[in-house]
This record gives sequence, C-alpha cells and structure tokens, in this order.
Amino acid sequence: MQPFLPFALPEIGEEEIQEVANCLRSGWLTTGPKTRQFETDFEAMLNAAGGGVAQGNQPVQAIAVNSATAGLHLALEAIGIGPGDEVIVPTHTFTATAEVVRYLGADPVFVDVLPGSLNINPALVRAAITSRTKAIMPVHFAGLAADMAEIIAIAKQHGLKVVEDAAHALPCTVNGIAVGNLQTDAAVFSFYANKTITTGEGGMVVSRNPELIKRCKTMRLHGINRDVFDRFTSKAPSWYYEVVAPGFKYNLTDLASAIGIHQLKKAELFRAKRQAIVDQYNAAFENLPVILPQGAVADGLHSWHLYVLRLSDACLLSRDQFVEALYAQGIGCSVHYIPLHLQPYWQDTYKLSKNSFPVSQKAYERMVSIPLYSKMTQAEVDRVVSAVQQTLA
Ligand SMILES: *Cc1c(COP(=O)(O)O)cnc(C)c1O
Repeated sequence: MQPFLPFALPEIGEEEIQEVANCLRSGWLTTGPKTRQFETDFEAMLNAAGGGVAQGNQPVQAIAVNSATAGLHLALEAIGIGPGDEVIVPTHTFTATAEVVRYLGADPVFVDVLPGSLNINPALVRAAITSRTKAIMPVHFAGLAADMAEIIAIAKQHGLKVVEDAAHALPCTVNGIAVGNLQTDAAVFSFYANKTITTGEGGMVVSRNPELIKRCKTMRLHGINRDVFDRFTSKAPSWYYEVVAPGFKYNLTDLASAIGIHQLKKAELFRAKRQAIVDQYNAAFENLPVILPQGAVADGLHSWHLYVLRLSDACLLSRDQFVEALYAQGIGCSVHYIPLHLQPYWQDTYKLSKNSFPVSQKAYERMVSIPLYSKMTQAEVDRVVSAVQQTLA
C-alpha cells in the first residue's frame, strides 16, 4: 500500500530555512526588523493590487499578529464592539469567526449561506439587522470572495462596520480588487500551518483607516501607546513607556516573520499551482454524482485554499462512507465546516436549530474537502483523482 497522503502540507523552501537561521543568529527573536519587513511587503503587495492607492484611496496598512483569531479580536475591539452589540456572521465557518465577538461581550448573530458559494447570504444579512447590529463579518469561504459589493452596500445603508475574515483569501480578488483592498473597515488573513501561506502560526490585520491601525498596534502589545512613547523618547530614557489600555499579547515574532517574508513572495505561485490541480479535479469529477466547488466569476481570483466536493442527491453513499473509502485508500480529507449552529456552545447559548440554516446544514451533511496544496506531485494528484473516481463509480 502507498504511504498515507495528508490532507494538507506546507511548502517550505531553503529561503525560509535560511531566513529563520539568520534570525536566530541575529539575536533578535521577537517582533523587530523582520516583522516590520513582513508588514511593509504585505502593504506593498496590496497597494500595488487593483483598487489601491491608484484610485485615490488611503494606502492599506498592515499589522502582523500571532494568529488570525488575535487579528479579528483586535479589529473588532478597534471598531468599538462591546457588550450588547450584535455582529452578523455566517454559520458556515470556523468557530474563531464568532468567538472573537464573545471575547468582547457582544453577540454573534448567525445567518445561512448561499447554496453555490457557501458564502454569507446578503439577503439574510439584511433580514438579521436589528437596532443592536454594529458589524458584519463575511468569510471568504475556501478562498472565493463573498458578495462584497452587496455586503458593503448593506453596511453603508445601515451604518454598519465590515470586518472580513480573510483567513482563506490570500491571494483572492473580487471585481478586479484584491481582498484586503476593498472598502471595508479591516480584513484579517491567517498564516496557520495549513493556510495558503504559513508562518506556523500567524496573521495580518489590514486596513485603510490609520486610527484603526493605531489602535490595533497599541492593543497588540499590552496597550502600550507608541506615539506617547515616541514623544518622550527624545527626553526620556529608553526604558520609558506608557500603558493606555489593558491590551493583549498578540505580536508576531521575527522567527515567524522570517518564514512569512518568503512565503508571501510565493503566494501567487502557490495559488497558480493549486489552480492547476483544481482544473484537473474539475475535469476528472465533472461526470460523477458530485457538486463541484464554485469558481470565481470574471474579474475574480479564487485563492483555492480548499477544494470542497459535495455529494449530489444522486450519490448513494453517505458523506461518512465516502470519507472512510478515501481513508481506506490512504487519502486524507476533512470537512469544512461543522457549522456553528451544530456546535454545543453556540447551539445552547443562542438556541440555534438546524432548521434555521438549511443550506449550511445540507452542505455539511454532503461535503468533503480533499487534498489541495502546492506541494502535491502529479502522482499524488492522480492518486486522489482515481480514489475519488473509484469510490463514486
Ligand atoms: C483558520 C481560520 C481562522 C483562524 O485563523 P488562526 O490564524 O488559526 O487564528 C479564522 N477563520 C477561518 C475561517 C479560518 O479558516
């Protein structure tokens, strides 16, 4: 039998290894010059992309953090989310999207997704707005952008903030504009080990709003106000600092940023490699009893973080039988996601019923994510294709 093929693997080159070694030798391990470089490289990438400063917007600024969860927490804190507020989130996501709302004492309001993209349904967002609603948090599921034109329009109309959970969305484009560069309050990317680029653990908050960035910077590191600090540096000795809020410990280390600097350079190469695998999967599976994942529309770019197959009604296997059959052939797979309305904490706290989320519920019962990562060899792609074909034949 062939070796087990994992569901996900990072692609790490000699450049990353050398940069980490340099960092170790430099003696500066925590947040410092490599993190600043990672941030400025990230800013440069987004500001060069469509919809950036060329259209007269404020440039995008980036703040590196030790996870996307931390970044989402900081962004929501910076826009002023607090007890009694409501934040609209899709049910079809990872728990981090909703948990950060609870960190601030506010309540997530769960809505169902669209049957094609599995992204948040704008009509249901509209219907969920109350006098307590403060923000909308779309997730770009699997790397396909949510309907941002509609979400931004709803937010404008109702005076709401928009914070994008862009954990899957590097690089991803909608209507020719890169996610991270849209007219929202902030977007947050993840560099967790299985994401489109990785630093092991890590994340990036991006925003055009200098005030939001300033607040995130302060709260990222214990509520220490750098501007106050800088004002005093000329007069006061270097040990002096001022704490202006009970902040968090969310900074990214230079060791992690050393990896990120090189991963970021390869983000588009990695995406192109995943796209080539997706094209093969789509061609190989089109006549099987499955629903293929939705691609990006014209002027859009799908980051293809995940390849999510859904068994159609014509398929007699259950999802669990399908997963078992793939495992029996040595193919790792996963499910994205067990919807939040089925998770005990969310279900009990907010009295959620699966009948309220029919699209997410049905998708969950029939979905499987199969291996999709830049490091896959042609032989590995062929193995996955034949395992899926044999199982569904
Ligand atoms: C991975 C993920 C997160 C959390 O990212 P971390 O960097 O692990 O904190 C948040 N939302 C979604 C949709 C994710 O997939």
